[in-house]
Amino acid sequence: MGIVVQKFGGTSVATPQLRERVVEHVARTLREEHQVVVVVSAMGRAGDPYATDTLLGLARQVGAWPAGGASRELDLLLSCGEVIASGIMALTLQARGLPAQALTGGQAGIITDGTFGSARIEEVRPDRLLALLAEGIIPVVAGFQGVTADGEVTTLGRGGSDTTAAALGVALQAERVEIYTDVDGMKAADPRLLPEAPTLQRVTYREAMEMAYLGARVVHPRAVEIAMEGRVPLQIRSTVGSAPGTLVTDGLNGPGEALPREAPARADRPVRAIAHVGPRSRVWAVPARGEFDGEEIHQLFQSVAEAGVSVDMIYVAPDRLSFVVDEELGDQVREVLTRRGARFEVTSGFAKVSCVGAGMHGLPGVMARIARALAEAGVRIYHTVDSHANISCLVRQEEVGTAVRALSREFGLLESGSGGLR
Ligand code: ASP
Ligand code: MG
Repeated sequence: MGIVVQKFGGTSVATPQLRERVVEHVARTLREEHQVVVVVSAMGRAGDPYATDTLLGLARQVGAWPAGGASRELDLLLSCGEVIASGIMALTLQARGLPAQALTGGQAGIITDGTFGSARIEEVRPDRLLALLAEGIIPVVAGFQGVTADGEVTTLGRGGSDTTAAALGVALQAERVEIYTDVDGMKAADPRLLPEAPTLQRVTYREAMEMAYLGARVVHPRAVEIAMEGRVPLQIRSTVGSAPGTLVTDGLNGPGEALPREAPARADRPVRAIAHVGPRSRVWAVPARGEFDGEEIHQLFQSVAEAGVSVDMIYVAPDRLSFVVDEELGDQVREVLTRRGARFEVTSGFAKVSCVGAGMHGLPGVMARIARALAEAGVRIYHTVDSHANISCLVRQEEVGTAVRALSREFGLLESGSGGLR
């Protein structure tokens, strides 16, 4: 009789009808003799009264936006969205005869550092949750938030309820963490671009993490990282419908099943999924004269860092350096580099399209196939970067759909059976 953490996203708790589905999931899991901990996000999307974006809109109306976009007051305000959801969800469970108790993140034992807007969980003290479970009570925890050691309420960054669920799953040594959302799992490619993209039945932590960092939006990458470190399986599935969704694990199919830790990757299918993010701006700079020296390179990146801009797809050579930033931050970079008197160019309108697969490591020919597929589709590559489990290409934003379709075809992602791990 293990613990199952069930996290319901904002769209899954948005209406009374959907909250009845939540009750059904909880009740079913209790019937299967599990103990359940519920984690909820703020109800609904922008425009709905208690959604995170609505609360953010309220704060923006004040007109005094905090420097750096985060503050103690903003976090306290935003945390209310999840607190409201946990109260409503606990009341709903109680009304259906299930004993439940709503808790803030802090009450649930989530202790964070003091970085408002993007706090990191330092510690989870599970005692209170365990005591409730022992009494047969379902804790309904407000996601996305914690409390500092000295009692300040913090939030974990957008999408942070997944992180709450994973951290609780690890601290409670849960059998699994279930992430309920409005799609039935992780897809081989963005279903908005490729509606026929199959759901991946199983992916490794590494693949899920790469996909999440590279733009797949169903689960927060930090949550996958925490689940991976704690070796708790994640199941990503739809709140409506009964499809099992995607199991994120290292080859174990579930408790007690002695499969290899990581199933062997298939050489003919080194790429499991295509992810994309955008818009991005590409920045490149050349030396004022001759070649860059080490100190110039340091100064340039240092000034970008001091402007609070994170860089990606970094390329440094004696005669040129380039990197990619969030398009929103392009102007900030332009300003910084102008002040430094650098010779540079910032071009907007790019996106990063990535092929992800733990099986590509050490396998010859993956880049050749990417290059061929994109060439045949008429998509120009402006920059690439790779790791052991992905190859990312910078392309024009308007060509993302074409690129995703071409790469999905090249790597057989639309063929039946491509969703399994083997
Ligand atoms: N409500 C928060 C957000 O919209 C956290 C979450 O949904 O996971 O980012
Ligand atoms: Mg989310």
